[in-house]
This record gives sequence, structure tokens and C-alpha cells, in this order.
Amino acid sequence: PPCRGEDINLFFGPDGEHQTAKEAREDKAREICHVCPIRRECAEYALTAPERDGFWGGLNEDERTSERRRRTRRANAA
Ligand code: SF4
Repeated sequence: PPCRGEDINLFFGPDGEHQTAKEAREDKAREICHVCPIRRECAEYALTAPERDGFWGGLNEDERTSERRRRTRRANAA
């Protein structure tokens, strides 16, 4: 995948990272994931592991939490 060989620190921020730094970092990571042929699989993998942090498949921690909630709601509504 295109993230291989990229700086791992683009995908995993330091403890106590400021919001503006996080957003700038994730914008770069998002661009890389955007062209990744396995983005969907990568995102699904990360979505199955609630405790996993970092940027995966174009989604950050908060985005994955939202997506999990959305899926739970949808499953409960079905
Ligand atoms: S989607 Fe996953 S495998 Fe692809 S570039 Fe992003 S982090 Fe790497």
C-alpha cells in the first residue's frame, strides 16, 4: 500500500498532540490513503478493533468511533 515507506508518524500522532497539528498530519495521511487500493479493507480492519489508535484507511479515531456508532444504530434499527 502507498503508506509503506511513508513516515509512520504521519499515521500515529504523539501523546498530547494539539488539534491543529493533528489536523495537519491527518490531512497528509488522508491524501495517501485516498489513492490506496486497499483503503476499504484497511478501514474495515481498523473498525473491528475499537482500541486501535492512529489513522487507518482514511479514518481517524473519532471518525471510526462515529462509524461504529452509526453501524450499531443501523443494526438496532433493522
Ligand atoms: S488505507 Fe491503510 S493501507 Fe492504505 S495507505 Fe491508508 S493506512 Fe495504508
